[in-house]
Amino acid sequence: MKVSMLDLRAQKVRLGGAIENAIARVVEHGAFVMGPEVYDLEMRLAQFAGVTEVVTCANGTDAIVLALRALGVGPGTAVYVPAFTFAATAEAVALCGATPVFVDVLPDTFNMDPASLWRALDREIPDLPSRAIVTVDLFGQPADYNTIGRIAGERGIPLVADAAQSFGASLGGKKVGGLALLTTTSFFPAKPLGCYGDGGAVMTDDTELARRLRSLRLHGRGTDKYDNVRVGMNSRLDTIQAAVLIEKLQVFVEEIAARNRLARRYSETLREAVTVPMVGEGAGSTWAQYTVRSTNRDRLAEHLKEAGVSSAIYYSTPLHQLRAYDSFPVSPDGLKTAEYLSDEVISLPLHPYLEVAEQDFVISRLLECLS
Ligand SMILES: *Cc1c(COP(=O)(O)O)cnc(C)c1O
Repeated sequence: MKVSMLDLRAQKVRLGGAIENAIARVVEHGAFVMGPEVYDLEMRLAQFAGVTEVVTCANGTDAIVLALRALGVGPGTAVYVPAFTFAATAEAVALCGATPVFVDVLPDTFNMDPASLWRALDREIPDLPSRAIVTVDLFGQPADYNTIGRIAGERGIPLVADAAQSFGASLGGKKVGGLALLTTTSFFPAKPLGCYGDGGAVMTDDTELARRLRSLRLHGRGTDKYDNVRVGMNSRLDTIQAAVLIEKLQVFVEEIAARNRLARRYSETLREAVTVPMVGEGAGSTWAQYTVRSTNRDRLAEHLKEAGVSSAIYYSTPLHQLRAYDSFPVSPDGLKTAEYLSDEVISLPLHPYLEVAEQDFVISRLLECLS
């Protein structure tokens, strides 16, 4: 048996031709850029996430850049980001000309550690005013927005949520999208809600920020495309990708439920052999990844590979140790948790169409290696 991390073919079968038909309709009407499906999708996403404004864009990295630029983040400012995430979180900050400041994460949820954030904010770097905090909902679970939101509020620093992995998740009954001033997401094919290429979006309840975002994604347009009032970007979601996403959104709730069933099953059977992921009080995850911890991680990865089971290591190097980011400031107490997590984490196959027999195979191969 071979078990893969992702099965987009099974999803396409589930949708029974709906995606091909949706693409064909776009090819027929020919409005490939900012066509009607883009606005239709934005309305549906807003309804889904319970926010008033959704501005789609070209990818999840641009979404963070657009959010930061809408807030006025630029050179000579500091933006706080977790050290244990995909590089795009810090890359977006640097692309704005700002300085990413790395904050440690919590060992059980993998998300930003509020105490580390607090210490980083307390230090105040000379001539580098704090301009934003970017949290990441790693592997699909919302960060601790209750605590981090309070810190951001007390300091008067805007909070941006990088929800590239968590669109569809919730915290305390509130959907991802409404947990921060601005929330960004990605529709990269491997994300829980993915299109057939690159795509992204920014969500907010702030109409003024949404107005700036809509201008920024279209070359900084004012009243029209040739009235440029700011330096913007070319960052739009292709109409074809919007059409694909409208169809996939129809089964998204059922897919998240399937991911949760599988995650629960993994946790029940694996908790003796590895450290299974913790879901915080009141949190719901999209399980973008099912990530366990083991001090025998490398041996396990090798064993699974030999057995035909795919696995992945997100992330093998914390951002502050990557060449492109190793000169940026870090939280005063260091980033010890991010460092040891990168040696211990391994993500197992989990997608909505994973069959029980496949999951049993993964479980037995893991247990035979580690018990
Ligand atoms: C995927 C991802 C991004 C970037 O999204 P793209 O659409 O690939 O640009 C940013 N942050 C996190 C945490 C991600 O997982």
